[in-house]
This record gives sequence, C-alpha cells and structure tokens, in this order.
Amino acid sequence: MMKVMKLNLSDKAKFIPVMIPVNGGDGYKAKEIKDKYDITWWTKNSMFYYPYVLVSYPNVCNIKGSMRKFFRIPDDMCVIGDSGGFQLMSNKLYKGIDISDSINPLKVLRWQEENCNLGMGLDFPPYSMWYRDYKKCMDISEENHRMMVSKRNSKKLKLYKVFQMYGLEFKWADEWWKMIDKLDGFDGIAASFKGKSHNPLYMASVLMYLYDKGVRSNLHIFGISGITYSAMFYYLSNFITNLTFDSSSYVRGQSMRVYFLPNTFKYSTPLCGGESFKNNPNIQELPCDCSVCVNNDINMFKEKGSKAGSLLSLHNLHITIKQFDMLDKLRKDKVFYKEFVKANMHPIVWESLNFIDMVVEKGFKYAFEKYAHKIGSVKDGGQQNKVGESKTNKLLDY
Ligand SMILES: [Zn+2]
Repeated sequence: MMKVMKLNLSDKAKFIPVMIPVNGGDGYKAKEIKDKYDITWWTKNSMFYYPYVLVSYPNVCNIKGSMRKFFRIPDDMCVIGDSGGFQLMSNKLYKGIDISDSINPLKVLRWQEENCNLGMGLDFPPYSMWYRDYKKCMDISEENHRMMVSKRNSKKLKLYKVFQMYGLEFKWADEWWKMIDKLDGFDGIAASFKGKSHNPLYMASVLMYLYDKGVRSNLHIFGISGITYSAMFYYLSNFITNLTFDSSSYVRGQSMRVYFLPNTFKYSTPLCGGESFKNNPNIQELPCDCSVCVNNDINMFKEKGSKAGSLLSLHNLHITIKQFDMLDKLRKDKVFYKEFVKANMHPIVWESLNFIDMVVEKGFKYAFEKYAHKIGSVKDGGQQNKVGESKTNKLLDY
C-alpha cells in the first residue's frame, strides 16, 4: 500500500516549482512506473500533493485544447504562467528566428486566461549594454505589456508586469523602473535577473531597490534557486507580502542525478548524487522518510534512465518544500531567524538580512552606501557582458 503524504501548505508557501517537460512533455500526463503513481505533485495518484506550479508558455504552446486537462491539473491548483519572453529574445538573437507567430502578447494572454491563476507580462529581456539595444528591448516590452492589459478579458487572472534588472548598475534599473511604473492595470511585479551567479546580498540590494520604490506586496522573483537565496526571500517576505519565487533546481535529480540530503542548509553542501549511492555501496538505505523514498527501494534510485531521474527529482522537490516550509515558519521571529541563518548558512546570507533591516530602518540610499563595498565585490564575480560586447546586430532591425 502506497503511503501518501499530503503537504497542506497552500496559505503559507511562496515557493513555486517549475514544470520541466519530462519525456518530451508527456511525462506529467502519462502514468508512469507501472501505474503505481504519477510523476506529478498534483494528481490523486501523486506521491505527495503541493498546490503550486509554474509553467512556461513556450513549453506548452503546442498543446491542443486545455492545458489543465492535458496535465490533469485540478481546479484548486495554482498555476503561474510565464510568458516566454526569454525564448522570444534568444531565438531572435542567437538563431535569427522570429517566433512571434507562436509567442506574442495576445496568444500568451489567452493561454494565461484559460489556464493560469497568475500570468507574467511578455517582456523582451535586454541582452546588451548598448543603450540603443537596451532601449529597443524596453520599447518592445512596454508595447507587449500595454497590449496585454488592453486585451484582458478576465479579471480572474492576476497579471504581473516584468521588471528587468540588467547589469549591475542601478542606472539601467532606473530606466526600466520608470517604464513599468507608468503601466496601469497590473496586479504586481515580477523581477527578473540577467545573471544568476550573484549572491544573496546583491539580490537583496535589487529587491530592496524595489521596496524603496514602494513595492510592499505581490512580487514574484523569477528562476532563482538555492537555499541561500530562498532564506533571504523568506526573511524579505516579512516586509513584502505575497512574495513568490520559482525554481527548478529539484530537477537536478533528472539532469545530474543529485539526491538532496534532508536537513542540510550549509552553503554548497555537497549533496549526495544518486549515482553515488552506487559509488558508496555501504549506504544501503535511503536517508530520508519522504513519501518518495518510503515508497521506493534504494535500487530504483540507482538505475539509469528517466524512472530513477524522476524519483530523484520528486524526492528533491519534497525536501525543498519541507525545508522552505520550515523557513517560512521561522522567519516570523526575525531575531531567531537571523541566529538560525548565522549558524547554518554562509555568512553572506546573514549579511543580506542585515542589509534588508538597514534599508527598512534607514532607507535604501543609506544602506546601499554602507554595504556598497560588499555588494560591489559581487560585481567582479558577475557574469555580465562587458560594455561593448554586444552580440546583437541581428536585433537592431527588430
Ligand atoms: Zn526522500
């Protein structure tokens, strides 16, 4: 008899797992593993239930009919619909392909209205430090956002406008902020970051920049994974309510055979790879009692192929949800939370929480100057294109 664990976190959780197409997109649809259970976290036959998912439009735009029906997503499940601006931009930029026939503001909006609870505006992310290119991306993004708002049929769908933090200088952010600040008719803001190699302090500086602009609720943070960022996000949610963030890092079970160890918070803790169970034959039991591990033999995790990958991913997702739920409960005691973070995580996480406090108490400008040397040191590790390294002549005619 399968033991099913229900995770009833609907009013607390801020973490939104990204749906990554498995088995060519059909993995979430088909019953797998001898019909014992589904490789999902939302059907009756799943090993655990979690009521959130983020779906990216380009991954599902070819589905005929209702996406919810296709994936058997129940009505009470909260679906966040990302719009695919990045795919639009990268196809144009790196492949010279214009995919605006399949991904355009109106199509995205109609899909979101039919399938999603929350949708993201279709932005065109900046890709170069040339002002001319940057401005072009802003103009396209503004036009797309205006189109979506003007064609909105349903008020049931919440719609967020996209803020792009590009580069490490706030002069770029200021431009983008001014552009979206003028846009009316949206329910919140989704923040996107170009590079992902930053640290929580840098990330906190960008998010507190938004706080300084008056953002106090309905903020989504795109595609940032890892416990260090997440620990900062949960603290920040004491000051910005209804803060959500999505992550696909659990999928490393599939892609890299990683098995997240439960109860570990240290920065860069080496995690036990699924394959390494093979390399460590002395480990004969799974070190976890989640419903995925309880229902499956350790040998199933060691196999090659998508079955083991799916199990690893679902276990990782379960671990992530439980960890984040704990952070969500602890963060309400700010003093305790900071002590917990200091004892269990990389010092930069603790610094980022202090930075948040300082912005709240003394303002962004004051805090940013105090922390500039630390935030500044992040710049050297950033992965931004240097000024002048524009790859983009193709796009100038867009
Ligand atoms: Zn487990």
